[in-house]
Amino acid sequence: MSITEQEHEGLLSIDLGAVVGNYRRLREVVSPDSQCAAVVKADAYGLGMAQVAPPLYRAGCGEFFVATLAEGLELREVFQRHAEHAAPKIYLLAGVRPGCEAACKAAGLTPVLVTLEQLARWYAATADDGRAAPCVLKIDTGMTRLGMTAAEFDQLLGDQTLLARANIQMLLSHLACADDASHPQNRSQLDRFNDYLSRLRAHCPEVRASFANSSGIFLGEEYHFDLVRPGSSLYGVNPTPPQGNPMSAVVTLRLPVLQKRAVVETCAVGYGATQTVAAGSWLAVVRGGYADGILRTQSGRGRGCAVIGGRRIEVPMVGRVSMDTSVFDISALSAGERDQLEIIEVLNDSLTVDHMGTAAGTIGYEILTSLGSRYFRRYLGG
Ligand SMILES: *Cc1c(COP(=O)(O)O)cnc(C)c1O
Repeated sequence: MSITEQEHEGLLSIDLGAVVGNYRRLREVVSPDSQCAAVVKADAYGLGMAQVAPPLYRAGCGEFFVATLAEGLELREVFQRHAEHAAPKIYLLAGVRPGCEAACKAAGLTPVLVTLEQLARWYAATADDGRAAPCVLKIDTGMTRLGMTAAEFDQLLGDQTLLARANIQMLLSHLACADDASHPQNRSQLDRFNDYLSRLRAHCPEVRASFANSSGIFLGEEYHFDLVRPGSSLYGVNPTPPQGNPMSAVVTLRLPVLQKRAVVETCAVGYGATQTVAAGSWLAVVRGGYADGILRTQSGRGRGCAVIGGRRIEVPMVGRVSMDTSVFDISALSAGERDQLEIIEVLNDSLTVDHMGTAAGTIGYEILTSLGSRYFRRYLGG
């Protein structure tokens, strides 16, 4: 097969049809009384928020989560460019920095707030008719990251003035161990969340609730509440390890072979001379290194597929990953196959982001967000 111009620096294919299919699959799992948002922070986990969000909207997703104000402003603009789209709700998971409240309100973005001071500041900057612009309150139920503390929550419930002014639309919390269905912390966080929610609803009966990320959805309906917030599963990461992956793969990454070489005598490969190959071996050096998300920690463990015509032959990575290149041992190929070889695939539906994450000592999330900007990106479907 011959390499196209677009494939010269590596071709990252992103299947928007698979993203939409994954959204629909999650919708089938989520209880019919709940809404399903999409988390598109960090440029949709590295895959392109501007490309990913509109097809999700057309598939019925009316609420989106990003992390920062800059991401929220960009997403708002994306939807304004698509005239056929109404305005979806956009939430900022990292809240709003002091001084940015007016910009946030003007773009119709809803911040997720975590302290009394933030609630008061949001009110002071956005109040209209004695009520703040809509916001979300995040409560910590055991993750010990962003979230209001129990003591501040008690204080809030005791402050009728602030409660009336704050305009809290939704109570939100985040699970720390949802990818391990048997972890006892899932249940303890759920119990705490239900307790906080019923106490808040005693004052604000209309407040919505959101608890589950991708993995949380698969813990059962009692975790779904009014709105679930999947991110990674939309992009093909397995939400139910160690069981099989109910989601479809979204990314394929093809790296062009820059050099094929015969090993004449036993020698070491790459920086640090960490691995040796025997005389008679064959190597392929590909364009794609740690600056492109081929994480260096998978040196000696990574795998790829030599693509020959329509066939794929799995080949191991050898030696350390460099900044721009990595090396594969293609000794398993016949002379004829070697001649034809121009592409090694490192991500596809059998070599998944989860596999690469495990090889690199990390998770599929970090593989996706590390992919970098040097590939040619091709969007399919959607
Ligand atoms: C990133 C994030 C999510 C999405 O989590 P996934 O595991 O990717 O589904 C949901 N909620 C919060 C608060 C997050 O930060």
